[in-house]
Amino acid sequence: MKKVKLSEGLSLSAVVQGFWRLDSWKWSAVELARFMNECIDRGVTTFDTAEIYGGTLCETLMGQAFEQDRSIRNKIQLVSKTGIFKEGGFGYYDTRYDRVKQSCEESLKRLHTDHLDLYLIHREDPCIDFESTAKALTELKKEGKIGEMGVSNFDPHKFNGLNKAVNGQLVTNQIEWNPVCFEHFNSGMMDDLTASGIHPMIWSPLAGGRLFTGSDEACVKVRAVLKELAEQYGTTESAIVYAWLAYHPVKALPICGSNRIDRLLEAGRGVEIRLKHVDWYRIYTASGQKVLR
Ligand code: NAP
Repeated sequence: MKKVKLSEGLSLSAVVQGFWRLDSWKWSAVELARFMNECIDRGVTTFDTAEIYGGTLCETLMGQAFEQDRSIRNKIQLVSKTGIFKEGGFGYYDTRYDRVKQSCEESLKRLHTDHLDLYLIHREDPCIDFESTAKALTELKKEGKIGEMGVSNFDPHKFNGLNKAVNGQLVTNQIEWNPVCFEHFNSGMMDDLTASGIHPMIWSPLAGGRLFTGSDEACVKVRAVLKELAEQYGTTESAIVYAWLAYHPVKALPICGSNRIDRLLEAGRGVEIRLKHVDWYRIYTASGQKVLR
């Protein structure tokens, strides 16, 4: 599997394994360590998690697997995020200096590691104080607790605001993109990232499976196009989606959310397929959300 360079010090595998759904897998530490090793053996060396996943349980479970097999941690690039909290059932964001510093320390403890390779601000906090967040991230990097810093779900205004405050050190924006989600094409974020050579990580590349199971009109329409293209290219529908993501010049890194190795292999095969230019537009317009003028 190819690597994608995000900075001088950090390259990620072209396909990333996500652990958002980990608490529903009901795996022991032994089973999780085995799965992690299977990913690594196939070149999928970047693992994505977040403080909020499973209400911190997902980080704890990953930490137990790293303890179970201590060779894993040094073979991977570990990504986590902070910024989303819940109090009395009410969700809110906190990206202030003290909170970011404390959260990082807590994540390191749960994950049984002394550093994160990449640390992201999870959501575009409407109350963000760029200087305060930047101070925390910059200090964490100087202390060696994080290798690189980035954001997730940021619009261009917030991305540029924070990036300015950290002197251009943001190395990615982890965003949702799939054939039924075009938020970051609409906001101009995709153009900004392409222009500045910053590679986004892509969450829910298969719309959380909805692309294949959803009965809404957009998914049904996309499925019909994917089926036709899969037959044409002699591959599967999901491989075609990964090929579509990989085609874009922004050089995105999809995050696979399944716990099945066969799905991960399909993703790996998909990013190697080179679509015809016209076929990229067939998928872009398939759901009906995008119309070419
Ligand atoms: P996804 O790959 O789009 O969705 C995974 C789901 O799709 C799984 O439940 C999987 O089921 C199902 N699926 C996959 N292929 C399928 C097929 N051919 N037919 C039917 N169902 C299929 O990704 P995701 O899990 O939504 O997100 C991926 C990762 O992105 C997460 O783990 C997390 O790390 C990250 N993420 C980040 C944010 C953020 O705000 N930054 C938000 C959400 C997620 P099986 O398990 O049965 O294969």
